[in-house]
Amino acid sequence: MARASSTELGDWEAPIRAFVATVEAYELHGLLFQHLELCERRAWLHLHRVDYAHLEERMKLGAVAHELHRPRDRSVEGLMGLAPDRIDWARREVIEAKGSAGARRAVSMQTLFYALLLMEATGRRWTAANEIVGGRKKLPVAVGAEEIARMLAMAKRLGELAAALSAPKTTRKPICDSCSYRFLCGFV
Ligand code: SF4
Repeated sequence: MARASSTELGDWEAPIRAFVATVEAYELHGLLFQHLELCERRAWLHLHRVDYAHLEERMKLGAVAHELHRPRDRSVEGLMGLAPDRIDWARREVIEAKGSAGARRAVSMQTLFYALLLMEATGRRWTAANEIVGGRKKLPVAVGAEEIARMLAMAKRLGELAAALSAPKTTRKPICDSCSYRFLCGFV
């Protein structure tokens, strides 16, 4: 992909370039950042394609609801790993739909992922928001130097997990009881 020159990204440019380089090196996609925010072991399972989405009713229903909500934006095909629900090119805002108000921070990581890729591709600053499916409520996602640094650190961690032959140690957390990977992770 051609690199856009930028003056608008300013201090964000170097960490965003490093982020995209890491994403490309490990072929990362947005959902992985959501998993990592929730649980390292869950991210490892997804990275190593240990899942049963086709068997788990809630995962199947979630996928169908998400696809029915609105067709994916086709204007960004060709940008690696980029499949957000909606892009407002005029306002430079990327929007990702979510099923409920829960796990807001984790979903925000996925939305941030799209925003950073778009910033790198266009050389302009973008805003990000999550939208509750069916509710039409838009929740802004913070985008700043701190968030970009955090996403870069997460991308590097995902690279380490991709190379790891065994799942990372973990601790029990509230999400475990409803985690879609609970019967596979060997912890619960
Ligand atoms: S059940 Fe808990 S420890 Fe296992 S993958 Fe899910 S969140 Fe992580």
